[in-house]
Amino acid sequence: MQFSKNLIIWYLGNKRDLPWRSSQEPYRIWLSEIILQQTRVAQGIPYYLKFINVFPTVFDLANASEEEVLKLWQGLGYYSRARNLHIAAKFVAKELDGKFPNSYKNLLQLKGVGDYTASAIASICYDEPVAVVDGNVYRVLSRVFGIDTPVNSTEGRKIFKVLAEKLLDRENPSEYNQGLMEFGALHCTPQRPLCGSCPFSENCIAFNQNRVNELPVKLKKKKIQKRHFNYLVFISEGQKTILKQRRGKGIWEGLYEFPLIETNSEASAENLVREEDFQKYALATPQKIDLFNEKPIVHKLSHQHIHTRFWIYKCEQLPQKGVFWKEINKFPVPVLIEKFIDTFDF
Ligand code: SF4
Repeated sequence: MQFSKNLIIWYLGNKRDLPWRSSQEPYRIWLSEIILQQTRVAQGIPYYLKFINVFPTVFDLANASEEEVLKLWQGLGYYSRARNLHIAAKFVAKELDGKFPNSYKNLLQLKGVGDYTASAIASICYDEPVAVVDGNVYRVLSRVFGIDTPVNSTEGRKIFKVLAEKLLDRENPSEYNQGLMEFGALHCTPQRPLCGSCPFSENCIAFNQNRVNELPVKLKKKKIQKRHFNYLVFISEGQKTILKQRRGKGIWEGLYEFPLIETNSEASAENLVREEDFQKYALATPQKIDLFNEKPIVHKLSHQHIHTRFWIYKCEQLPQKGVFWKEINKFPVPVLIEKFIDTFDF
C-alpha cells in the first residue's frame, strides 16, 4: 500500500537515534515502552539509561525491592507504571524463567501491558503484524483520512485500530509502526505540523480541506478537581522527621510523604490544628506550627490540581516513630516533596 511505503521511506530517512532502537531485545523494548507511556522521549531517555544501568536484566529488576524501583522512577509520574513494571519483571523472571512472552496475545498477560504496548513489543521484537495505535497514530490517521470521530470514544478507538491494521505493512510491521509514531511525533505534530514538506500533503484530507487544526477530535475531559494538601514537616531536636507511605488506590501509591492533612479550602494555622487528622500528631507541648510557603505550590496532575502548603512543626520529641532528616533522600517521594526537601533548610 502506498501510504505504508511512503511512511517507511520517510521513517528510514528521519528516525531519531534513540538508545533502545539498537536492540530488539524484548526486555529493553518493554522497558522503553513503559517509560514512554505518558512521557516525552527527551524526558524518558535518562530514565531508560538509569534503569538499564542499574537493572541490566529482567532478573536484576525482579530482585530489586519496590522502594528501589520507585526511587529510580521518582519524577516520572504515573507511579503505577513502576509498580506494574516490577510485578511484570517478577512474573517473567520467576514464572517464565526470564523468557519474555513472544506474541501479542501472551504479552497481554504482563501487568501494565495493554493493546498498545503489546503491539509495539510484538512488532518490534518478533515482527508480528499487529498495528499500534497511540496519540500520534490517532493524529496522523485522523488528519490524512479526514476522520472526525472522537479518538477517545469507544467507536473512535475501534475505527482507528481497524484502519491502522488495514494500512499495516505485514512484511515490515516494525518499521511501519515505529514510522507512524515517529511521523506523528516529529512531523505531523499537534501544533504547527510541517505540511509544506509533507510526503502525504497531496492526499491529506485535513490539509486539502484546511481542517488540520480541527483534527483529531477529542471528547472533553472530566473537570479538574482542586485539592488542598497541608504537609506537617516535623523537626525534632534529634533532627528527625515523620514520613508516611501512601497506601491504597489513588495518586502516588507506595511513595512517601510527610503527614498529610487534606482540607476543603486553604487553611489557616488555627483551622489546621482543629482538624481531626491533626490531633493524631498533636503533641502535649505547645503546638506551634509555622507556615513555610504562604503561596500554595500548585502541582498539576491530569485530573487534579494539588494546592500544597508545608507547615514546619518543631518539637523536642516526635509524636510517632521517625526517620533521620539526613536519610530522607533514600525514600521514594513525589516530585512535589522532593522539591521541598531540596529547598528547605532548618
Ligand atoms: S499534510 Fe500536514 S496534516 Fe497532513 S499528514 Fe502531512 S503534516 Fe499532517
